[in-house]
Amino acid sequence: MTALHIRDARIASASFRPRTEAVDTLVLHHTALDLAASLKVLREGAVSVHFVLAEDGTAYKLLEDGEVGWHAGLSMWRGRPDVNARSIGIEIVNLDGNLHAYPRAQVAALIELCTLILRRHPGIGPRNVVGHSDIAPRRKVDPGRRFPWQRLAEAGIGRWPGGAEPRPVGSEAEVQVLLEACGYPPPHAFGRDERRGGNIWVPDAARPPPGVTGVERVTTADILRAFQLHYQPRARAGRATAHTMGLLHCLAAP
Ligand SMILES: [Zn+2]
Repeated sequence: MTALHIRDARIASASFRPRTEAVDTLVLHHTALDLAASLKVLREGAVSVHFVLAEDGTAYKLLEDGEVGWHAGLSMWRGRPDVNARSIGIEIVNLDGNLHAYPRAQVAALIELCTLILRRHPGIGPRNVVGHSDIAPRRKVDPGRRFPWQRLAEAGIGRWPGGAEPRPVGSEAEVQVLLEACGYPPPHAFGRDERRGGNIWVPDAARPPPGVTGVERVTTADILRAFQLHYQPRARAGRATAHTMGLLHCLAAP
């Protein structure tokens, strides 16, 4: 029995571009909007994505895989910025994946959709199945702590650390090294480019370039929170425990 139904919902805006790099990443989001509003924004607005997945398991296809969607924004994974350029994005309809569980039919369809995408793009290894919060820590918190990462990993989509042994809690620098080995970005700052629109990296948070406002620093604690949102959703976020260290070591291993 298949849970997935794919419907054509071709984008109506010019908010996308042709792809020039190979696809090697799959980015999962929650929409924070209902289905109708999500489709409107993503088909007609300044952002876009490949698929919108409704709660009943219907997948709306907006972009071809060979087109770059504008879903990740300012982002970095495994040391490389601009995740949009080499990713497929799925926006999963949920008003807040930190509060609301993902319905069974939607998860079943998501597993089918991800499986299809992974089959089409063998370059997307398990490490490169990520949440928006993983690639844009502090700035984004989707798809949220209720997202069934373990269930997906059991279906061959992404990773889940099984049997991680507790480890001594390391220094902040040690935690950061492990986070980066998992793929997370280094501490950084970003701000809003008022002239061109959108967020940009700010190399020196104390002296942002002219026209850049709302500068935010992203610290190791913020990046650790993103890690815990994904792998330790019941933890007190931003603080490493012996269990966190075990998970970090497990996932940082090549
Ligand atoms: Zn998102």
